Amino acid sequence: MCSAAVSVCSQPAAYLILKYDMQPHYKMKKLTDREKFMKEAIRQAVKASAIGEVPIGCVIVYDGRIIGRGYNRRMTDRTALAHAEITAIRKANKVIGDWRLDDCEMYVTLEPCQMCAGAIVQSRIRNVYIGAMNPKAGCAGSILDLLREERFNHQCIVETGLMEERCSELLKEFFVNLRTNQKNKKTEAGT
Ligand SMILES: [Zn+2]
Repeated sequence: MCSAAVSVCSQPAAYLILKYDMQPHYKMKKLTDREKFMKEAIRQAVKASAIGEVPIGCVIVYDGRIIGRGYNRRMTDRTALAHAEITAIRKANKVIGDWRLDDCEMYVTLEPCQMCAGAIVQSRIRNVYIGAMNPKAGCAGSILDLLREERFNHQCIVETGLMEERCSELLKEFFVNLRTNQKNKKTEAGT
């Protein structure tokens, strides 16, 4: 593990979750069900951040209940397959007992990549709620729109911008910390 990852880890998950829960604008208004589920996806993203991974989190909901959770573990598990959405899909498959998740909703903090968008379509997930968009890699409208591609046999109903500010804030904070840690490391090496 690189030292940057170690430094990012120094903030325990519980502290980060508390910090994000305590934001005043967040406390003031009553959350809708969709916001509650996105909040749980954000909690998953915070778990990724706490182990030095890019904070991306996901939950899958069936009949008003969360049946799959996942967060990015790409570096930890040393595989590009360890994206939040893939982990959440695997868990939901176990609960439902089927590869089809056609009555399910996915809540994900960052626009899915091509791999995850492919898995979402393959799983026949009905609704996908996205927090922040990803102009550099997103495949739910940014680069491609695989979730709504009419030539496939399944299209998802997509809603973007759900708690977008908080989802992107988490990512920005992670990268600012990462850069600061890298800078400090360089300074230390130079002295
Ligand atoms: Zn992905």
